[in-house]
Amino acid sequence: MTSSNADQYPSGYSEGYSADVDIIREQEYPLLNDTTYLDHAGTTPYAKSTIEEFSRQLTSNLFGNPHSMSLSSQLSTQRTDDIRLRVLQFFNADPDEFDLVFVANATAAIKLVADGLRDSDHRGFWYGYHSDAHTSLVGVRELAEMGHRCFQDDADLDTWIKDLPNLPTKAPKLVAFPAQSNMNGRRLPLRWCKELRSAAQAMDGNVFTLLDAASFVSTGSLDISAVSPDFTALSFYKIFGFPDLGALIVRKKAARVFERRKYFGGGTVDMVIAAGAQWHAKKESSVHELLEDGTLPFHNIIALDAALDTHKRLYGSMTNVSRHTACLAKRVYDRLSVLSHWNQTNVCHMYQPGAHYGSSIAQGPIIAFNLQNSKGEYVPKTEIEKLANVQNIQLRTGSVCNPGGTANALGWTGLDLRRHYSTGLRCGDAHDIIGGRPTGVVRVSLGAMTNMKDVESLVNFIEEFYVEKIPPIMALKSPMDNSDIVERHFYVESLSVFPIKSCAAFKIPEGKRWEIKQEGLAWDREWCLIHQGTGTALNQKRYPRMALIRPSVDLERSILRITCGVMSEQVSLEISLSWEDTSLISTSSCPNTKRSSTVCGDRISLHAYSSPVVSAFFSDFLGVPCTLARFPSHTTHRYARPRRSSGVWRSRFRKLIMPGAFPLDLPPPVHDARQIPLSLSNESPLLIVSRSSVNRLNETIKAGTKSVNSGHKAVAADVFRGNIVVAERLASPGDTEQPYAEDHWSSVRIGPDQLRINVLDACQRCQMVCIDQFTGLRSAEPFSTLAKTRNINGKVCFGKYAALAPEETEVHHPQSDRKTVMVGDVIMPSYDDEEHP
Ligand SMILES: *Cc1c(COP(=O)(O)O)cnc(C)c1O
Repeated sequence: MTSSNADQYPSGYSEGYSADVDIIREQEYPLLNDTTYLDHAGTTPYAKSTIEEFSRQLTSNLFGNPHSMSLSSQLSTQRTDDIRLRVLQFFNADPDEFDLVFVANATAAIKLVADGLRDSDHRGFWYGYHSDAHTSLVGVRELAEMGHRCFQDDADLDTWIKDLPNLPTKAPKLVAFPAQSNMNGRRLPLRWCKELRSAAQAMDGNVFTLLDAASFVSTGSLDISAVSPDFTALSFYKIFGFPDLGALIVRKKAARVFERRKYFGGGTVDMVIAAGAQWHAKKESSVHELLEDGTLPFHNIIALDAALDTHKRLYGSMTNVSRHTACLAKRVYDRLSVLSHWNQTNVCHMYQPGAHYGSSIAQGPIIAFNLQNSKGEYVPKTEIEKLANVQNIQLRTGSVCNPGGTANALGWTGLDLRRHYSTGLRCGDAHDIIGGRPTGVVRVSLGAMTNMKDVESLVNFIEEFYVEKIPPIMALKSPMDNSDIVERHFYVESLSVFPIKSCAAFKIPEGKRWEIKQEGLAWDREWCLIHQGTGTALNQKRYPRMALIRPSVDLERSILRITCGVMSEQVSLEISLSWEDTSLISTSSCPNTKRSSTVCGDRISLHAYSSPVVSAFFSDFLGVPCTLARFPSHTTHRYARPRRSSGVWRSRFRKLIMPGAFPLDLPPPVHDARQIPLSLSNESPLLIVSRSSVNRLNETIKAGTKSVNSGHKAVAADVFRGNIVVAERLASPGDTEQPYAEDHWSSVRIGPDQLRINVLDACQRCQMVCIDQFTGLRSAEPFSTLAKTRNINGKVCFGKYAALAPEETEVHHPQSDRKTVMVGDVIMPSYDDEEHP
C-alpha cells in the first residue's frame, strides 16, 4: 500500500499481499465484479489461477486410481503423499506428531472421530461441546452413549477442566469446540486443548479434544503444533474456494481411538476373507491408511496443490489474510454500529462487543446483527435478504447452522424454541420475528479478497434503505375527503389469468366476458410445473425464464395453447382443457406412487402429465427436468393450508437443527387448535393492482437518485402479476390520479351485475417483481423503490388480495348463474369504515 491512501485505508489492508487487493480482484475474481459478496463463511470464491492450474494438471497428466502399481496410479499416489505433507506444513503440524486424513468435509471429519470413539470402548463415550458449536459438532451428542453436556460459555468449560482430575469415571471423553464461531466470528481460547490434556493426565489421559477449525482457517493462521488438538476438522473450500474437500488432522498419540473402528472399506485393509471366516487385517502403517475408506478423491487432492500455490502467490500467508480481514471487519463494525435514526436510536443491533474487532486473536471477520427501525422494531431478516438480493449483496440470514450461538445472542431458551417449532417455526423459513424478537441474525462474513468497496456497498445499502433520516410520515394512509371519492370513476383496465402458476399471463381479450368464481378467475393457476426429481412446484423467482412460457386459453377449441421463446424460435404445445385427456395420471388412485407437490410449504396431490412430449417441451425450454401438472378438480383447498398434526410434529422435530441444550425429557408441545398458526397462505383467489399506483411508483423510480443498480427505468404493470388492473377515468383534464386508494378499499362492486368482491390483505412482495415479464431478465426495480416507499410493518406491499364475496355464489341468490367480468367494467369501491365514518 502507498501512503497516499493512508487515511482511507486502515493499516493492515492488503499488507503483505502480492498486489493491492483491488488488482487481485480484477485479475483473479472477475465473478465478483458486479456483486458484493459477503458470505465467505459459507464459502469463499476460488481464484481463476487455481482452476486454470488444476485444468493444466489434469490435461497434461494421466492420473490413475491410487491403489495400484501402474505408472498412472503411482503418479496419483506420489502426488497425494506430497500434498498431504504440504497441507500439514500449511498448518504447521509436525508430520512426526500429526497425520492428515482426507475426508469429504469438516462434518465428515467430525463424524469420523465420533464413530471412532463410539467403537473404541464397550461403554461408549461421553461428549462435551461448547454452546458456540456448529450444528455438525452438536450432532455428535447423538452417538455419545455415556451422556453429553453443552458448555454454556467459556467459564463453564474452564471450571469443568479445573474439576476434571476429580471426575470418578475413566471412560473416554471427547470435548469439542469451534476455533471460531461461524455465527459472530468470535475466536475461542485455543489453550483449552493443552489444558484439557494436562488436566486429563490424572485420569489416564482418556480425554480427547476435537477442534472444529472450519470457520477459523478460512481467515486465520492455525498453528497445530502450538495448539496441539487431538483432532482438527476443516474444509478446504472455506479457505481456497476450491476443491470441495476436507481434512481431519490427527495427533498420532490420540490415534488409538480408531483402533477398534468397526467399518473397513477398500484401501484400509491389508487382507480380507470375504466368505467363510469373518477375518480381516487392517492396515497399520499410518493413521490415514487406516481411515481413508475407498478411493481417495485424488483429483480434488491434486486441485488442492494448485489452490495452495495460488493462495501463497496472491496472499503470501494466512497471517496476511488474517490482518487484512481483521481491519476490514473493524471498519464494517465501526460503520454499522454508529448508524442511527432521526431520533438517535440505533439502526444496527450488533451481537458481539466492538472491542473485539481489530484483534485477530479474539475475533474473526464475521459480523452478526439485526436491524431496527426508529421505533425500535426489528426488521424481518427475510425482507433484508430479499432487498440485498435485488441490490446484488450476498449475505446470510437465520440461525446460520449455529443453534446455540444464535439462541444465546437472541436470548431464546430451548423451551422457547420448542414452542416456536410447535407453532410452525422451521430452520430457514420466513418466521422472522416472534413476540417482537428476531428468530435469527443477519451475518456478514469477509474473506481474503474482500475490499473496501464491498464494505462501502454494504454500509451504503443499510444507510439507503434502513436508516430513517426523518420521522416516518403516515405516507401510506393518504388522507382523502368524501367529496373526492364520489367523483372517482374506476374501471377494469385489463384482466389476466395465469393458467400455469408462475408463467406468463393470459390477457382476456377485450369484449369477452370471463367467468369469476370463489376460487378466482376461471382457469387461473389451474396448472403448475413441477420438478421431476423433487416434485416441488417451480417458481419464477428461481426460474425467471418461466415468464417466457405463455399459455392461452382457447375455449372454442377447448385447448390450452402454450408458446415458449422469442419470435424467431417459438415453439408451442396444445393441451386439452378437459379432464378426459388420456395423458393424465390420476395420482390419488395409486397410493404407492403418489406424487405430491410442495406449494408454499404444504403437500398437495397433483395430476402430473406423464407424456414425454409434455415434459420435454418444458424441460428443454427451462433447462430443468420438469413436467406439467394440474390441480385436482375440486380446488378450493388450493388456497388453504391443512393444519399440522402432532404426529408430524414429532417426526419433523427429530430432523430439525436445534440448540444443544434441551432437556431430553421435555414433552412435545400440544397443538392448540385455538392457536393462530404462524403460517398463513400467501395466496388468495384474486389480486388487484391499481394503474394509478403503478404510475406513482414509476414517477418515484424515475426521480430516484442514489441507487446505482436501479437504472431509473419505469416498470410495466405486468410485473405485479395482478388479475385485475384497475384504472381511473378522470372526470376533467385537470384532475390528478389517486394512487394507493386501493389501500382503503374494503370491497368493490364490479360490472353490470354489481358483483361484490371483498378486498382482503395487502400483497406482500418479493424480488420476483424485478423480473421483466417480457424478457425474463432481472433488475433492481421496482423492488428497491417499493422497499423505500411501500414498507408496511417491515413488509413490502403492493396491490390487494381479493375474493368474490360468498353471497355471490349462494344458490338462492337471484343471480346464481355464472358470474362474469370484462375489461371496461365499472368498479365502485367501498372504503374502510373507520376512515370514512
Ligand atoms: C462450515 C463449518 C462446518 C461444516 O463444514 P462442512 O464443510 O459443511 O462440513 C463446521 N463447523 C464450522 C465452524 C463451520 O464454519
